[in-house]
Amino acid sequence: MTSTALAATLFGPEDLRMVEHPLGKLADGMVRVRFGAGGICGSDMHYFRHARTGDFVVKSPLVLGHEISGEVVEIGGAANLKVGDRVAVNPSRWCGHCVACREGRPNLCENIYFMGSASKTPHMQGGFANYFDAIPAQCVKIPDHVSYQAAALAEPLAVCLHAVARAGNIEGKRGIIFGAGPIGLLTMLAAHRAGMADVTVADIAPAPLAFASRLGASHVENVAGGEEGLKAQAASRPYDVAFEVSGTAAGLASAIGIVRRGGIVVQIGNLPGGQIPTPSNAVMAKEIDLRGSFRFGFEFMNAVELIADGSVDVLSLVTAERPLSAAPDALRLALDRSQSVKVVLTAN
Ligand code: ZN
Repeated sequence: MTSTALAATLFGPEDLRMVEHPLGKLADGMVRVRFGAGGICGSDMHYFRHARTGDFVVKSPLVLGHEISGEVVEIGGAANLKVGDRVAVNPSRWCGHCVACREGRPNLCENIYFMGSASKTPHMQGGFANYFDAIPAQCVKIPDHVSYQAAALAEPLAVCLHAVARAGNIEGKRGIIFGAGPIGLLTMLAAHRAGMADVTVADIAPAPLAFASRLGASHVENVAGGEEGLKAQAASRPYDVAFEVSGTAAGLASAIGIVRRGGIVVQIGNLPGGQIPTPSNAVMAKEIDLRGSFRFGFEFMNAVELIADGSVDVLSLVTAERPLSAAPDALRLALDRSQSVKVVLTAN
């Protein structure tokens, strides 16, 4: 059995190295997983560039990666799994007994362990490692026809299913998404599935917008030079729901500004840390429901099902694959929005 793992470990801004970590003996109640694939997320990119994402600051070496899949190679104790099972790995471990868990909102668990995150100290190590350990409840079996690459993208799809759920019943409604990165695009696909009649995608870069068009956006708007086009659209057919996915103060202000009176704004993007000025009087005067959306709860299972039954083609977002051993270069590639949407790490 393997006793070490080679892991993409962040030591500081732009200082990501493949480092051997001791794994030790597998603890009782855990399973050991051999890396199958891993999606590079916007938060991984923020950690890589700035050693922080939003208010989460890297204070000690952090193994990145929370969009992961792999093969069960060892089981410690009883588990509804067997060696050789191919699994999508939910990066969240919920306690199941805190107030949030009892309310059915496990993403808000007070005692959550979330892989590849510096939200707590000591940090929670991620899954960009050729072997990593998880609890059986994190491991959702995937059918043979589902690739590890697709299974790894159950996590970002779950984020978007949760965001759409936070918007409530969107059937027949008109929506706008600020940010055409992978989360914006998957939110668009999830909103279509939930019956949203019309989805506009706005961004400041042409390449992601062209990608959004190919994936089925009703309209795309380049707002780099201002929002005149959007305002004209909204004047004739108001937006009922706005999703802020860009992770910028400008995106959030635009979402609040453009949504109709009585509309809903869902904030998925993780804005830069600290105090962010927002047009709060517009929230008041338009009676906007401003709703946060953080990670996901039981949507993870649903995401795996939607991928397995072909309802959502997550691989349509993948613009490049790189081996795990080339993670630092893959992060740099992912940061280039002119050529990358989703970059996925593979075992070889
Ligand atoms: Zn809990």
